[in-house]
Amino acid sequence: MAGQKEYLANRIHIRGRVQGVGFRPFIYRLAHQYYLNGWVENRNDGVIIHIEGNPDSVESFIRVIQEQAPPASSITEIFHEPVLNEGYSDFRIVKSENTSDQVTDISPDIAVCKDCLEDLKIQSHRIDYPFINCTNCGPRFSIIRDLPYDRPNTTMDPFQLCDTCRKEYEDVLDRRFHAQPVACSECGPEYELIIGEESIKSFAEILNKTCTLLESSKIIAIKGIGGFQIACDAQNEETVNRLRERKIREGKPFAVMFGSVESLQEFVHLYPEEKKSVQSWRRPIVIAQEKKKLAFGVSVGFRTIGAMLPYMPFHHLLFEELKIPAIVLTSGNLSDEPIVIDNREAVEKLTRIADAIIVYNREIYNRTDDSVVMSVNEKERLIRRSRGYSPEPINLNLNVDGIFAAGAELVNCFCIGKGNQAILSQHIGDLKNLETLEFYSESFERFKKLFRTNPNLVVHDMHPDYLSTRFAKDLNIERLEVQHHHAHIASCMAEHNLDEKVIGVSMDGTGYGDDGNIWGGEFFVCDLADYAREIHFEYIPLPGGDSVSKEPWRTAVSYLYKIYGKDFLKLEIPFIQNLDLTKTKMIIQAIDKKINCPLSSSAGRLFDAVAAITNVCPVSKFHAEAPMRLENVASGTIEIAYPFDFGEVISFEPTIQEIVQDLLEGVNVSEISAKFHNTLVNVIFAVACQIRKETRLNKIVLSGGTFQNKYILSRVELILKKDGFEVFSHCKIPSNDGGIALGQLVIAAKRRELGKINRNS
Ligand SMILES: [Zn+2]
Ligand SMILES: [Zn+2]
Repeated sequence: MAGQKEYLANRIHIRGRVQGVGFRPFIYRLAHQYYLNGWVENRNDGVIIHIEGNPDSVESFIRVIQEQAPPASSITEIFHEPVLNEGYSDFRIVKSENTSDQVTDISPDIAVCKDCLEDLKIQSHRIDYPFINCTNCGPRFSIIRDLPYDRPNTTMDPFQLCDTCRKEYEDVLDRRFHAQPVACSECGPEYELIIGEESIKSFAEILNKTCTLLESSKIIAIKGIGGFQIACDAQNEETVNRLRERKIREGKPFAVMFGSVESLQEFVHLYPEEKKSVQSWRRPIVIAQEKKKLAFGVSVGFRTIGAMLPYMPFHHLLFEELKIPAIVLTSGNLSDEPIVIDNREAVEKLTRIADAIIVYNREIYNRTDDSVVMSVNEKERLIRRSRGYSPEPINLNLNVDGIFAAGAELVNCFCIGKGNQAILSQHIGDLKNLETLEFYSESFERFKKLFRTNPNLVVHDMHPDYLSTRFAKDLNIERLEVQHHHAHIASCMAEHNLDEKVIGVSMDGTGYGDDGNIWGGEFFVCDLADYAREIHFEYIPLPGGDSVSKEPWRTAVSYLYKIYGKDFLKLEIPFIQNLDLTKTKMIIQAIDKKINCPLSSSAGRLFDAVAAITNVCPVSKFHAEAPMRLENVASGTIEIAYPFDFGEVISFEPTIQEIVQDLLEGVNVSEISAKFHNTLVNVIFAVACQIRKETRLNKIVLSGGTFQNKYILSRVELILKKDGFEVFSHCKIPSNDGGIALGQLVIAAKRRELGKINRNS
């Protein structure tokens, strides 16, 4: 290559996340450093560099690109080929003409970088300035209103650059060259602390007062990157309980921010993968094993802590002065409403929860919650995909252009198709109230505008009552409905770019089935376009319909009644002894008369039933609490399992019978839970082997909320791989309903490609 005389230049093509993350200025500075000429340009599929000069320097240049790429970038592929020398006398950044290219410029928000944290201490115009940023870091998606990504199209628009900042902004050799949110204490946004009628504007005073308030067990609302958050001392039992009382519905564990990774490691065990996630520029909440106790009310009995590290300059500055090691940092919202982003709304609503409110005068345009990840089998797995991840596109081998996928109901995200890229929205929330629906429809309009797309095909869940289904119908464009669990499997296939027949294992709490029943323990043979339901968990009546998800004891009664008849009431186990007999008798009648007792094959409901029978969680305070608590008590050292039946359907009658037997014999719940989990693992393995025998398919795809169960996912993956299966599970998108829109999108695209779209409207 470089040695051949007829070629004196190189064309380098770089793929990966290289746009909107300071990549071109980096290339420019590097070319300058090596005295090389040519140009760099953004293209749809990455960055192209034409480079000319001393062959040794070119070689070093290519090597250093990979070694020193900006922190938020990631190079998946780099090719270079020799081309003819075109005689350039300088190096330039070529402005791309095509506006559709700029779509990929919308980067997720990036945590403040190390260089900026150093600048905070030495740059005279930015000493302790809490909005410091550069081309490698700072807000992105949360402040972008429109394209191209230039300052007037962001919420930095009202802030006039001062001369110093302008010089940096215009100097291609400066780290702040074309950093759109660039600012300093002279010209940028400012914080304000509001306590009742009092307002503090000096930042030093704000910081000081905030520390005093947090240390004296007060609750504070703080404006974050993507919305307001509520903070308090995570070690103070009384304060955390007060926060729980004021937030009313909150039964879920609270996320906690620690000042540094060292401090964090005093409280949790961090495996290498978790340590990498928690320190990454995306700065998600990482679910990790608790080592040392915080206040009980933080994790409410779970053995894990949702931990994160500072990502805004404000957080870093706060922890420099704060005398407590950890603060709760939970979303600033009322009940199930979206997180508050507006200053006025914060003062109106959050004063009911917080003793003081910290705002700043830059608008948050796109709301994002903190993202949540966990690590299973040494891989990062997304549970909630929002700040730091959204709106990064998923690249597909399929044309999804012009398709809008409406998502499901719980933890909703929608998805739009643009060329071969799927763009998932940030986490929207449970589409059950007007405020969340407004956030949904507003975000849909914004995505259409931001990503320059006007959908002509909408795809949605088969459930007729989901608000996302109604929203899709109201669009009055060509429409397609897809089955919930098929969409789950397709979402995982899309993540791995699979387009073939596979074995699909789809397990979750609820999803509308073809037969009108509630599905959720499903084994499919499927591809992107179609699916066949091979076998499923046995149907069980759910007395009270939707109310079972909040009252797992109802499902438990249904299972026990099916197995033992009315005799189950004589079982001498605590669950039965604590039952409300009147209610239970009504439930038995309802089952007998089939009144409001939809049939369900859901894995989530099976977990509910076992969590109730073992008395671990007969009543649930938040979504999926019962399965989570059951997993939480499982012993990690039990290998044995319960029996199950598998013929026409998969029956857990023998499983439940033995669980009851164990309870009667006084076996502890941590052993019972482990044995139950192992049973599920065995079921998946046995059925997968059976389907493989019949179909010769060896690729198996796991999706649905049940695979957020670390115990199950880690063991299922290992046992299947050990037996030669090619196993595909989620990493980049959630396996819960937060990822389902991606599956809907690719099903629609595939059916469109095959000419299989029938008009539903
Ligand atoms: Zn920076
Ligand atoms: Zn300035």
